[in-house]
Amino acid sequence: MDPGECLLCKSKMREGTTEIIARVGEQVVIIKNIPAFVCPNCDEAYYSIDTQRKIDRIMKAFHEGRLLARPLAAGEVDLKALEAIQPAACAAIEDH
Ligand SMILES: [Zn+2]
Repeated sequence: MDPGECLLCKSKMREGTTEIIARVGEQVVIIKNIPAFVCPNCDEAYYSIDTQRKIDRIMKAFHEGRLLARPLAAGEVDLKALEAIQPAACAAIEDH
């Protein structure tokens, strides 16, 4: 599949990944590692129809409360939640 050009600035798109941050009530859901074509100039991202469907499914599950995410305001890092969910990540950032 040819990435083609960015619709906004006509730069050559690159294959890469992007993330989506969406807020639902008090919760913030961040979907990471979304395969996409990303514009190196303006960071505009385009997804395939398949990927868009997956994102829609995740958002639907999240809205219906079937998928739980950490309550976290954007830009905040909750160390306690991080410890609970990713002990390995915490070990990696500790002083040795
Ligand atoms: Zn662009």
